[in-house]
Amino acid sequence: MLLEGPRERAPKTIPVIDLLAPGLLTDAFRRPVTYLRISVTDRCNLRCVYCMPEAGLPWIPKAEILTFEEIERVVRAAAPLGVRSIRLTGGEPLVRRDVPQLVARLAAIDGIDDIALSTNGLFLADLAAELRAAGLRRVNVSLDTLREDRFTAIARRPGLDRVLAGIDAALDAGLRPVKINCVVMRGQNDDEVADFAAFTRERAVFVRFIEVMPVIDNAALQRDAYVPSGELLDRIAAGGELLPVAGPGGNGPARYYAYAGAPGAIGVISPLSHDYCETCNRVRLSADGQLKLCLFGDTGIDLRTPLRNGANADELGAIFSNAMAIKPERHHLDLGKPASAMRALSEIGG
Ligand code: SAM
Repeated sequence: MLLEGPRERAPKTIPVIDLLAPGLLTDAFRRPVTYLRISVTDRCNLRCVYCMPEAGLPWIPKAEILTFEEIERVVRAAAPLGVRSIRLTGGEPLVRRDVPQLVARLAAIDGIDDIALSTNGLFLADLAAELRAAGLRRVNVSLDTLREDRFTAIARRPGLDRVLAGIDAALDAGLRPVKINCVVMRGQNDDEVADFAAFTRERAVFVRFIEVMPVIDNAALQRDAYVPSGELLDRIAAGGELLPVAGPGGNGPARYYAYAGAPGAIGVISPLSHDYCETCNRVRLSADGQLKLCLFGDTGIDLRTPLRNGANADELGAIFSNAMAIKPERHHLDLGKPASAMRALSEIGG
């Protein structure tokens, strides 16, 4: 059953809802789907070595990218089905103009009580306050090194100072939590994990170390760069006693640790492990309007055509509901083996 008509705005204390109730999105493995990650553009102003070729990718033609109005219609259809959290990602979402306006549109939708952003941070110092005022709650900033020369080598563009300024601007604007996502690569930045951990002694940030995932042509890097999470934690523990702590909430599967008295914490994410999939509550919308049911996998359902043919919220909602039957139980990636669908995360909406 689809909920219809105006509903009251979500109160501050969210009522307990039965996420397996009929009418709410639940996949074939009884996982409630409450989280929609939206890629607002496939374009990016960096060329990180593990993510994108130096020359960039064949960008999606602008006319094929969903407008803000179309994205809003998708979210208005998904919210009555139990989608509560939105993350804007890309590509680099902040290279698209007027993203605060999109945030404001989505924040006004009944049932949407959490809007987050994933960014490389280059434009964050300029936009953090405006994004916060528009209704953004939290932000993930990708940062793989604290050294400018390495930043330029890994991201193939300069900009470390701007990213650090963006992190501070996000904290000043009241975005919480601020998470830093660091892709750890042996021989490239794995000697900096202790420096990143020290960063959590100075700032109230959650630094999360992430494994390189296999995308497009990075199979060799992915194989050689892998650093097991146990090894990471051992190195960090050399900087002081680590205490297991509760995470910042949200939708991530990270485990967290902190140094005693530090305002921030450290987390480890293993996207290649299958327990990552067990609690999967998410689906993705690509910049060109494909509904993706798993980060890795070919299955995409075209929402742009029905959107442009005038589908109403019930019709769009029915597409979401039907898609639940084909959400895979887990991804089929294994370390060192290339993914069957080699698309960059920037194309899928990482
Ligand atoms: N531009 C935004 C950003 O930098 O956060 C959002 C898109 S970016 C594709 C999302 C995240 O995916 C970043 O944290 C990036 O480091 C990560 N990423 C991209 N390719 C990856 C790979 N092969 N393995 C692990 N993480 C990857």
